[in-house]
Amino acid sequence: MTTSAAAPKVCLQCNRELRADEPHVAVQDGLFCQGCAGQLQAELARLEASQSEGVNYPLSAFGGVLGGVVGALVWWGFTVTTQISFGLVAVVIGYAVGHGVLRVGGYRRALGLQGLSATIAALSFGVASFLVNRSFYNMAAVEQGFEALPLVVPLPLVVEVLKMGASPMDLIFLGIVLYEAWRIPAPLRLT
Ligand SMILES: [Zn+2]
Repeated sequence: MTTSAAAPKVCLQCNRELRADEPHVAVQDGLFCQGCAGQLQAELARLEASQSEGVNYPLSAFGGVLGGVVGALVWWGFTVTTQISFGLVAVVIGYAVGHGVLRVGGYRRALGLQGLSATIAALSFGVASFLVNRSFYNMAAVEQGFEALPLVVPLPLVVEVLKMGASPMDLIFLGIVLYEAWRIPAPLRLT
């Protein structure tokens, strides 16, 4: 269907017919008069701001940690059962942390929640990397008759274990994890 240039311009909101030269805001389905466009714009701005109201940081943090635990267990479980160090599975951590922060926190969206989410995701990625590397070390150690590492080791040893399986690809996976965790609780742009 084509609309002829002579068709009357009617505001989608107030149904008022606009004068031919009257300023208006065109949208996909038609147009708004200036007054209605301004009101809608203000309403959208109010909705946008309300996304960040009533943020409960402790509850959101709890949700994020919960997601981090789930994500780390998925990655760890995957690598231990398949014996394949498939780092791409680690991106599930970013997704789980982001959604934990968003859902458990009552669907609030704010910049502060994005920072919280990314921080928890980075820590979860570190813990999960340790668990995965430790498992692979222990598999090799037991095979060769060395002593296996316990679950809790001194910090310098944690660093050594993290360095064991490190590759440039890990930085890419960490980047994806942080991106997902950062993106998910971001306020939706309405205006
Ligand atoms: Zn109008």
